[in-house]
Amino acid sequence: MFNLILFGPPGSGKGTQSEKLIARYGLKHLSTGDLLRSEIASQTPLGIAAKSLMDKGQLVPDEVVIGMIDHALVNNPKARGFLFDGFPRTKAQSEALDALLKKKGASINVVLALNVTEDELIKRLLNRGLTSGRSDDTKEDVIRARIGEYHNKTSTVADYYDKFGKVVLIKGEGSVDEIFDALSAEIDKRLDK
Ligand code: ADP
Repeated sequence: MFNLILFGPPGSGKGTQSEKLIARYGLKHLSTGDLLRSEIASQTPLGIAAKSLMDKGQLVPDEVVIGMIDHALVNNPKARGFLFDGFPRTKAQSEALDALLKKKGASINVVLALNVTEDELIKRLLNRGLTSGRSDDTKEDVIRARIGEYHNKTSTVADYYDKFGKVVLIKGEGSVDEIFDALSAEIDKRLDK
């Protein structure tokens, strides 16, 4: 299996690059944001509880997203690998993911971390809010809260995987194709081994 975490703050381009990466490498895309939005659309109790947190720019509880990922891993026994997008976002989620993958005899091969300046992030998210229909993309204070959660809680995920030498920084500004080529080059190096 080849398992990849695409890492970076909100608006760093994880969704855009994930689509291209899964097409090239045949990985199964697991986005906790997408999974949560589908729970909201179906108006499940989980979705209703998550929505109020998401609309404030806060993280939903670890046990909720860990449960969703556990479920997705079990339901995709034949996947040749997973691309994790927006997960893990805390150290507890990272440890849980490692334990879940271990049960499959697998692990995270690489964490590709997209680097984008804060001004650019806010610009991209406000712009996405014009068309995405996402209520957390329209208000600048909610966007700033999400970036705050990233600095307070999520950036520790990179420190966690850095201890295992798994993190590679990628410049997240430039054209979509330039960034895709840089990500692909790092994956190709590791697939060859
Ligand atoms: P973005 O990274 O662009 O903000 P996402 O779709 O990844 O968008 O996430 C949207 C929201 O969903 C987050 O602000 C958070 O409230 C919630 N969320 C998504 N993934 C997680 C996670 N792994 N842990 C906790 N909350 C999450």
